[in-house]
Amino acid sequence: MNITLFNTLSRKKELFAPLTAGAVSMYTCGPTVYDTPHLGNYRTFIMNDMLRRMFEYNGYKVTHVMNITDVDDKIIALSHGKMSGLKDLTTKYEKLFVYGMQSLNTEAPTNLIRATDHIPAMIEIVSELLANGSAYKASDGIYLSIEKIANYGALAHLDPKAFSKENNKERIANDKYDKDNPRDFAVWKFTSPTDGDIAWDAPFGKGRPGWHIECSAMAMKLLGPTMDIHTGGQDLVFPHHTNEIAQSEAATHKPFVRYWVHGAFMNTGEEKMSKSLGNITKLETLAEESIAPIAYRYWLMTAHYRSPVNFTIETIRAAQSALIRLMAHVASLPSGGTINADYQKKFNTHVNDDLDMPKAIALAWDLLRDTKVMPVDKRATILDFDRVFGLGLDKAPQVKDDEPIPAEIQALADAREAARKAKDWKKADALRAEIDARGYEVDDTPEGPRIITK
Ligand code: AMP
Ligand code: ZN
Repeated sequence: MNITLFNTLSRKKELFAPLTAGAVSMYTCGPTVYDTPHLGNYRTFIMNDMLRRMFEYNGYKVTHVMNITDVDDKIIALSHGKMSGLKDLTTKYEKLFVYGMQSLNTEAPTNLIRATDHIPAMIEIVSELLANGSAYKASDGIYLSIEKIANYGALAHLDPKAFSKENNKERIANDKYDKDNPRDFAVWKFTSPTDGDIAWDAPFGKGRPGWHIECSAMAMKLLGPTMDIHTGGQDLVFPHHTNEIAQSEAATHKPFVRYWVHGAFMNTGEEKMSKSLGNITKLETLAEESIAPIAYRYWLMTAHYRSPVNFTIETIRAAQSALIRLMAHVASLPSGGTINADYQKKFNTHVNDDLDMPKAIALAWDLLRDTKVMPVDKRATILDFDRVFGLGLDKAPQVKDDEPIPAEIQALADAREAARKAKDWKKADALRAEIDARGYEVDDTPEGPRIITK
């Protein structure tokens, strides 16, 4: 069945055709590990996961590479110029990120790779850029000369006048800067006293990579010079992805990425959720509110990935109630049926249409309400949909005896487990007390927590 994807490069929905039949290569910009991700970050990561699951649903073998940015300006500052400090800091937050991703039921990337493990690949690209004249040496690092790049800024639809020779007089060492002022940017930054021992030897001078070159090098190392898909949040279109294209193509003379997929922001009020604006909410806050991480995943599916969403605790709480109803309904359905072909076809059409999850979720509810489909087949069909939803609907406890565990008790137990894993014992105890007050007990067995009726 055809798959269409909105490609940021063309600003159009395009028919997807992979480079290699039956396979998809996909690169995702991962987290910068100096703090735990906020819910906005997870919106983008969940979008990647659903995209990957959609391809797998269609029978593709997906190679999904995600990087961990474990060296950048902020990380170096927080590590006080000590490589040992950098390792401690980034290892801690990498673990918390992986835990967060598991609690959101995302599939582990095929390769989750760290920037600091791929410095030689970065040095190789910088050397090539210097050798072919696309980059030059300045006093503080190596810079890419954007006037040498044909089509620079095409992804972000930059006006070429903005970086004409007259206007492009400065260069920029910072990795993040404004679209209104495109400039030559650092691919390698020479070591400075504040960097301490966080530096690598390179033929063109000791130092460390710029953020943009990290992703170019890791993506091409694992997936080759041209990959099918590259994803990220919309704030990465400029400068990060624009610069990835410029330096990768200047080094290889091949197209870097065929389909660029960008997710819209999750906002709080009128503004993007972001650490610098101080308006972030994390998974821990959801647990404090007795909201399971998976309810957040469900909520995100009710909007298209290219539409902004506005975060409030109340909307997520309402999504959790809907999810509990959905799980309770699935739990009440007997096993052993077959997938309903009509519903499956409709579902496949929706998810293949630029990942239209709101229509796919609405279809799931239609299916549950449809009196013409037998309960046993409803279960088989909705579990088939769940291969893309990733809600873990097969884990909804099935009715086997007179007294099933109610879905809201299950949600509380999940939230308690999340709190325990985050080592928030106070919250875990409070949730246990709440479960207890409702007449149930959690038994922590070697296989995981088991809920029993008191
Ligand atoms: P970072 O760790 O800052 O590099 O961000 C990781 C990912 O989260 C990137 O793909 C960003 O585009 C994405 N991101 C950051 N803030 C938001 C937000 N408020 N909504 C959606 N995605 C976001
Ligand atoms: Zn990146």
